[in-house]
Amino acid sequence: MKIKSAEFVVSNSDVDKCPKSMLPEYAFIGRSNVGKSSLINMLTSRKSLAKTSGRPGKTQLINHFLINKNWHLVDLPGYGYARVSKTSKKTFQKFITQYFSKRMQLVCAFVLVDIRHNPQNIDLEFMQWLGENGIPFSIIFTKADKLKPNAIERHVLDYKTILLETWEDMPNYFITSSSKDIGKDDVLGYIDSLNKNMEE
Ligand code: GDP
Repeated sequence: MKIKSAEFVVSNSDVDKCPKSMLPEYAFIGRSNVGKSSLINMLTSRKSLAKTSGRPGKTQLINHFLINKNWHLVDLPGYGYARVSKTSKKTFQKFITQYFSKRMQLVCAFVLVDIRHNPQNIDLEFMQWLGENGIPFSIIFTKADKLKPNAIERHVLDYKTILLETWEDMPNYFITSSSKDIGKDDVLGYIDSLNKNMEE
């Protein structure tokens, strides 16, 4: 899929104020600093569509972008920062829960995971929660340029081993690097195929 247009639509903290349109929607979420903004900018070939490297926890907003006038890319806040208070963690959980339970337009959530780290509980718990709530998701491994190919394979295998303890299949996954422009066509091709499936 070629990205011909990418426009910012709206940011808000209230899921009821998200666009009413029923265009297919794809959400990107992960721990803060995982490389989500960089990935969104790589996918859309825009330098600063999503704001990179803000102070973690600062932007607790749901950001909608309209892509090619026919689907929404949604930038959700990062989770898992140490510096926010318990109350803001709760508020965050509430609105993320509401986002996922209310957005019927959501076709797939992309859970971003830094390929360098061993499987982290916070990510595994989040995937578990998505699964239990019937929300389709794929994994996007980020920062693949930081590891050699055999280490990438090993880290993916670690994830597979853990996930297959509770899941029948490994979710779809993608290996990406925003600094080396890796994985862009795979992710966009996947979104394109899901969009086409829905048109049929
Ligand atoms: P966000 O907080 O998840 O939106 O993460 P950002 O996109 O702001 O990236 C966090 C940090 O990781 C920044 O210093 C980026 O330059 C760096 N980063 C993001 N993607 C990559 C990548 O693919 N490779 C490398 N080496 N660094 C990356």
